[in-house]
Amino acid sequence: MDYTSFLKKYANHPNYFSPTGNKLNAKSWQTEAPLRMLLNNLNADVAEDPNNLIVYGGSGQAARNVESVEKIIKMLLDLENDESLLIQSGKPVGKVRTHSEAPRVLIANSNLVPAWANWEEFDKLKENGLIMYGQMTAGSWIYIGTQGILQGTYETFVACANQHFNGSLRNKLLVSGGLGGMGGAQPLAATMAGGTFLGADIDPKRIEKRLATNYIDKMTYSYEEARDIVMEAKLKGENISVGLVSDAGDMLEKLLNDNIVPDILTDQTSAHDPIHGYVPNGISLEEAINLRKKNPSEYKDRSLKSMARHVNFMLKMKSKGAITFDYGNNLREFAKQGGANNAFDFNGFVPDYIRPLFCEGKGPFRWAALSGNPEDIYTTDQALIEAFPENKNMIRWIEEARKKVKFQGLPCRICWLGMGEREKAGLIFNNLVKQGKISAPIVIGRDHLDCGSVASPNRETEGMLDGSDAVSDWPLLNLMSNTAGGATWVSFHHGGGVGMGYSQHAGMVILADGSDRAESCIKRVLYNDPALGIIRHSDAGYSSANDNLNKFNLEI
Ligand code: NAD
Repeated sequence: MDYTSFLKKYANHPNYFSPTGNKLNAKSWQTEAPLRMLLNNLNADVAEDPNNLIVYGGSGQAARNVESVEKIIKMLLDLENDESLLIQSGKPVGKVRTHSEAPRVLIANSNLVPAWANWEEFDKLKENGLIMYGQMTAGSWIYIGTQGILQGTYETFVACANQHFNGSLRNKLLVSGGLGGMGGAQPLAATMAGGTFLGADIDPKRIEKRLATNYIDKMTYSYEEARDIVMEAKLKGENISVGLVSDAGDMLEKLLNDNIVPDILTDQTSAHDPIHGYVPNGISLEEAINLRKKNPSEYKDRSLKSMARHVNFMLKMKSKGAITFDYGNNLREFAKQGGANNAFDFNGFVPDYIRPLFCEGKGPFRWAALSGNPEDIYTTDQALIEAFPENKNMIRWIEEARKKVKFQGLPCRICWLGMGEREKAGLIFNNLVKQGKISAPIVIGRDHLDCGSVASPNRETEGMLDGSDAVSDWPLLNLMSNTAGGATWVSFHHGGGVGMGYSQHAGMVILADGSDRAESCIKRVLYNDPALGIIRHSDAGYSSANDNLNKFNLEI
């Protein structure tokens, strides 16, 4: 198919579709894979707003503009196996000479020199068409829809249940805000873990999307109705989820007035971006959209004050016994800027629930079937169940996910795997492709929220034992290791999750196409990537990471 016909079929803005099946459009699977995953990121079943090339997380984009998408497609269709494409904040800017085991795409998104690293500078550059916000997996073409965050959220809620509620969320009420691309995983994760869930989102369309994908059970505009449903369900131990169209702070205020204290309280509104993400209290969504354009500085001011109000309600609930944590959206930081001086009186979710997993090199391992055939994912599910019979938690997750998770775009799966497990899984997938048991290659990637790939002092690296929270040498070492090891595409971003100035992080995706080349690359990349997590946490003084350093012969 020539380039023009390809665009017409797969990239007729805003209608994006990944090619499926096992026939190549590009010159090899190494370039076909990023091509399919870019288009998959922009597919309306996956992306929150394809019209603006926004994939998730407020304004997280897959490419700078439509012209850039088309040019990336053209370059990937033509790219040779000794060339690598350079992407600068979502725009293709050139190609360099490399070799067959080198990454085919090298991506840098949203990076700013530290003293300039703030939203004001970013917005100026964006206005002039010079940059885009890549979030984490949006600009690195490995967002897989809400399933991507589902298991992480599930792991967090289960870890919380283990710490505070003897391992069960039955008869427990979880309350949160934000039901967007990532936050939309909360209701399903909560009910999968056995709890009752109430979440607020100001935008009814976002809740409707969760209803359509079976991530939430009910939607209402009435606080009273929502309250009555969840309180009855909690009493009966029913795992039901309700989405309320409301400002998150308003919902908490009403719950407090009714003397209702959630068992678990968190938030996933897009607070990381006080102008283009969080919607201030007291105005309608339409008014907010207008104010954003008309008077961004007034918008920001109102947004910060609303976050302060929101967090003050959370603190009040915490004082009444709610287990309260920040869920990685930098809400506490902006609430503090808005006047909530005690905003940091509750912890982030990483130190409380995720860091012990990071010390084992564990993180959100994910893979997608480039064939588009769900059977290929079911084959990988079964292979992992057989390969890791001791990993009961993972098996329970895969079995539940098979029943409850609707695929969005290319079929994919996620599960948290650690050092040793990731390499083993990657080699199994490569063999399944080699033996023809899977109909086309698989790509394996992960979130940038991982054990050794991110520096984010209000999130992944909050409260490190040795105080090294803000040291961003680690994600750079991760990037360099994965580039040297031969990932198929690599990326380095700034500002993901928590916004400009607050994080730096690296991503990688690797192809399993059944070849010997892929086997060599997998053995290096899926070994090195989790190893970096163990090394980073051992260096910071975590004793369990030290034990793993010895267990996996990583000491020097
Ligand atoms: P999103 O933009 O898709 O969704 C945010 C939602 O918040 C939207 O639906 C919006 O309508 C709603 N919202 C905004 N202001 C509100 C208010 N005052 N009251 C009620 N609803 C409001 O973003 P997302 O992808 O769901 O991500 C949410 C946040 O979580 C972001 O800040 C993101 O950076 C962060 N995040 C967390 C993790 C994690 O692991 N916990 C991972 C990635 C991103």
